[in-house]
Amino acid sequence: MGEDLLQIDGSMGEGGGQILRSSLSLSLVTGKGFQIQNIRANRNNPGLRRQHLVAVEAAATIGHAEVQGADVASQSLRFQPTQITPGDYHFNVGTAGSTTLVLQTVLPALLRASGPSALLLEGGTHNPMAPPFEFLDKTFLPIIKAMGPKVNAKLDRHGFYPVGGGKIRVLIDPVPELRRIEILERGEVKMSARAVVASLPRLIAERELKVLKRDLRLDSSDLEVEEIRSPAPGNVAQVEVQSTHVTEVFTGFGEVKVRSEVVAERLVQEVKRYLTANVPVGEHLADQLILPMALAGGGALLTMPLSLHALTNIEVLKLFLPIQVHITTTDSEAVLVRVTSS
Ligand code: AMP
Repeated sequence: MGEDLLQIDGSMGEGGGQILRSSLSLSLVTGKGFQIQNIRANRNNPGLRRQHLVAVEAAATIGHAEVQGADVASQSLRFQPTQITPGDYHFNVGTAGSTTLVLQTVLPALLRASGPSALLLEGGTHNPMAPPFEFLDKTFLPIIKAMGPKVNAKLDRHGFYPVGGGKIRVLIDPVPELRRIEILERGEVKMSARAVVASLPRLIAERELKVLKRDLRLDSSDLEVEEIRSPAPGNVAQVEVQSTHVTEVFTGFGEVKVRSEVVAERLVQEVKRYLTANVPVGEHLADQLILPMALAGGGALLTMPLSLHALTNIEVLKLFLPIQVHITTTDSEAVLVRVTSS
């Protein structure tokens, strides 16, 4: 493998799996190989875990990459892609891993590939610390579609953390170049809430919705309970906030020994933080949109104070692409992120 690989320190910034995933995405789209050291050095189980290895495997398969160090617990990896091949792919993320994070690793390359792709991903669809399926479908992908490509995601089966066993299908119809977009105003908002129970009593969902209705002043007609069967029990409560250009989806994850009211109250706090900020782009969406904006050669968004995640993504982006990211905090603590090509 060539010695002109980009050198990446996996312990910088948030020091977790995101640096690896962003590096894989950017390596695929630029064709630049990289070597990453100190992978997930800031975690208490450092090195690659199975879910990261699936992201590496997916990226390596789609980009015909030469890879060294792709082993469980490895803290160093070399990755050199050759050619992106769109097509039909099936990746099994295993039990605890998130299907949506694996999708987001390979999606940027497939959005501008030479032909369409169809992905089948098995694993977790509703994991804490990852975009839940509805966030992918209603929040993230509509913005990607506004940039030109057609992307269609379908949830075949829910897979709740930690057992997984879910299934999603994604069809991607690429474009030669992504369109630049700006998301700067929020406009009027409309809210609704749903609570999903998988092989658990309906009462859990009803208790969550009662809190959401009371604290967010929702109408009964804006509440929905969904009862489903899945390989393992699971529960999420979600609030959808539709505004002029963005539909944000906020998720509370039911946990053993945490009362449904507490799950819903934490969710209320997250929704209120977003509503008070009076910006269109929430914290998670911001960290996920900076990379596609950089690929489009520019773009802008108005968001909340940037997470360590977003700041780390920006550092990784600058290593691979000739871009500048201007971050301006306004009086109201809204943050304007403008990406330009340098
Ligand atoms: P982390 O687990 O913090 O490494 O996050 C990995 C990625 O998942 C980041 O891009 C986060 O923005 C995203 N993410 C984590 N939690 C959520 C959530 N509840 N909704 C949407 N995206 C999320």
